[in-house]
Amino acid sequence: MAKKQTPASKKSVKSPAAKPASKPVAKPAVKPSPAPVKSEPAFEVEIPSGPAPSAEQAKSDLHRVLEKSGSIKKCSSCGSNDIIFDNEKGEYVCNNCGLIIEENVTDVGPEWRAFDADQRNARARTGAPIKYMKPNKGLVTEIDMYNKDIRGTKLPSKRQAQLYRMRKWHKRASIASSSERNYLIALPELNRVASYLGLPDNIREQAALLYRQCVKNNLIRGRPIETVVNASLYATCRDAGMPRTLDEIAQVSGVPKKEIGRSFRVIAHELHLKIPLTDPSSYVPRYVSALKLSGDAQEKAVVLLKQAMKKGLVSGRSPTGVSAAAVYIAGALVGERRTQKEVADVAGVTEVTIRNRYRELKKELNIDVNL
Ligand SMILES: [Zn+2]
Repeated sequence: MAKKQTPASKKSVKSPAAKPASKPVAKPAVKPSPAPVKSEPAFEVEIPSGPAPSAEQAKSDLHRVLEKSGSIKKCSSCGSNDIIFDNEKGEYVCNNCGLIIEENVTDVGPEWRAFDADQRNARARTGAPIKYMKPNKGLVTEIDMYNKDIRGTKLPSKRQAQLYRMRKWHKRASIASSSERNYLIALPELNRVASYLGLPDNIREQAALLYRQCVKNNLIRGRPIETVVNASLYATCRDAGMPRTLDEIAQVSGVPKKEIGRSFRVIAHELHLKIPLTDPSSYVPRYVSALKLSGDAQEKAVVLLKQAMKKGLVSGRSPTGVSAAAVYIAGALVGERRTQKEVADVAGVTEVTIRNRYRELKKELNIDVNL
């Protein structure tokens, strides 16, 4: 179907950047110590000796494909944008006029085929993505512990001893800097607290990145590692609209709430973080599920909070308290009443707080409930 039209001639037109390929030929020779004569210009003179067509040939196919795939927009014959890639023949073909724009294209994909996820994982030879959660971002080399060579035969004892020493020094060298040593303590702690709080991976990664920024900006000086770790976590959660209260974090981490709060303020100020105020409705789903309330109650609570925000009943009050009161009222409105104590326990606030917020909401929003 595709009629071939002088693909070779097209190629020479398409690649104007073929000249510099001859550059790497020039080798900076070993310093000629006895010759004080200036020999630098001589290097430059000898470069152009490479024949131009062979240099173009030398240009790697991969490079050309990448270049093409980025630049091909139009067929040079008919001007069509409809260029397709023929996988079997390795050709770029104009779908309109049939001009072959590029042939013998190297397939830059993997040389294996996979039919399911397991095979794909088993055959991929690339490593895991970079993780801020891991010391050295997970980009580490490991010398394994098996004392075996590639065929599985045991190594002679002399070699084993050598490997032992290599392992030891490798371990020491890979955590050479003080900040890496710091991460070695901080990041597992971050992971631990995040696990207890049920935080997903992306939040952990973000918190780890924030912590790394704290270290880089010298904000950990004079503060315990755990404090800064938990402050980063708190900031990240709040920023992601998945707030955890200082109380919750303090309880899980064992670091006093006051300390975390203070570190958080320092971090936010020094790194110029713009962390939004906590939206009380972001607590609602958690309270609702902990109290085993229905979706109706959740919906109602969110509506109440929206109205409350409009009337300015939220600012200056703890978001957890307002949220808990809204859930408390919403539960009663949909006929799933929970006691003040139950709600207070789930939200980590006092019954007095709930009572006060409840009165405010009831009065200002004209809610017809009697609890
Ligand atoms: Zn065309």
